[in-house]
Amino acid sequence: MFPAHQAGRDLAGHVAAHGPVPLPHRHDASWSAALVDAVRSSGLTGRGGGGFPTARKWDVVQGRRGRPTVIVNAMEGEPASRKDRALLDVAPHLVLDGAELVAMAVSAREITVCVADDRDDSAQRVRAALAERVAAGLMRTPGSVVRPPGRYITGEESALAAWLAGGFAHPQFRAAKGVPLSVGRRSILVHNAETLAHVALVARHGPEWFRAVGTPDAPGTCLVSASGAVDRPGVYEVELGTTIDAILRRVGHQPVGGVLVGGYGGSWLAPERLGTPYAPGPLAAVGASVGAGVLVALPASSCGVAETARVATYMADESAGQCGPCIFGLHAVAGDLVDLARADGDRHTLARLRHRLGEVEGRGACRHPDGVVRMVRSALDVFATDFAEHGRRRPCRAWSAAPVLPVPPSAVDAVRHGRPRGR
Ligand code: SF4
Repeated sequence: MFPAHQAGRDLAGHVAAHGPVPLPHRHDASWSAALVDAVRSSGLTGRGGGGFPTARKWDVVQGRRGRPTVIVNAMEGEPASRKDRALLDVAPHLVLDGAELVAMAVSAREITVCVADDRDDSAQRVRAALAERVAAGLMRTPGSVVRPPGRYITGEESALAAWLAGGFAHPQFRAAKGVPLSVGRRSILVHNAETLAHVALVARHGPEWFRAVGTPDAPGTCLVSASGAVDRPGVYEVELGTTIDAILRRVGHQPVGGVLVGGYGGSWLAPERLGTPYAPGPLAAVGASVGAGVLVALPASSCGVAETARVATYMADESAGQCGPCIFGLHAVAGDLVDLARADGDRHTLARLRHRLGEVEGRGACRHPDGVVRMVRSALDVFATDFAEHGRRRPCRAWSAAPVLPVPPSAVDAVRHGRPRGR
């Protein structure tokens, strides 16, 4: 996916590396049907976290009246993820190729690239790439860049739709992922940036080429942001089905006490589970998911309780604050975790925390609180001994060390100084 050299960043280098994008000059129904078939046969699924079959999203939008807008979701609100940023930095034209292909296939009126308002470099790269394409007379569908607020929840596609419609970037209640999204009266088709890069490659090389790597159930490659106790943190393209320990060996790693898989709404895995193949099915069997393509290796010397408390605090603060489970439940969960990390709790804190998790689960308009519940439950399992010791007010010495998982200063301070009561 990434070009072998920097020259792939500009249009000439991109075309030299990948060849021209196979777009017809104008809408052609048989070409569209062939592209939809190719992507369907490839088995490509969304790489933004949901894992929804890419071609099925197109079916939904094609059944609606009017010409849709293709939305490139490059928000990447997940703090430990760098993949979309890396992709837009080194291969922006591959993402735009994918967006143009989808736009042509569904007869879209325009393409809108969403880059968070705290990612000026990425926005500049996309604007420059769009300008190159316009100058070369290659843009078949007009494209522009917009800058939604850079928050964790803004990347959720229904939150993005709400912001694009002029409202707050809050998730909207949807009965199922397949329910179409719209901005005003116009339907929108939202794809993650990495997904679109794969579409561009499938269009060039075909579904068999895509399926030549990965597993029959999870074909192809995906981008992984590896960080934490690793020698060479960064973004890596890996075959789906590669074991987690093989990925960690590739990036070099120190002794780990656990690995956070998927992102901050993902799951901790114990070192004994690192032989698990990195693919949706095997990960689901151990309670995890590919999610946003995040792997954070926690050094064995770190405090999993404090790391979990900081992440939960951040996630509670990042909620849209429009549903009870987030407003009340997540802050209470984070408060219990902070008490445990600081050994400030009482003998009921651990039991209370477990009870709260059950109260929060499945009650939000979006999956944000469920992600936090999953992450905290997995931490209670993987770091069970540490939680028990902290619950007995015998914390490890690492609880006040600098965090491994990136969080804002407010979450660091919450564990260092305690959370204000009453939140
Ligand atoms: S569950 Fe939380 S994050 Fe999701 S919409 Fe409700 S308040 Fe917002």
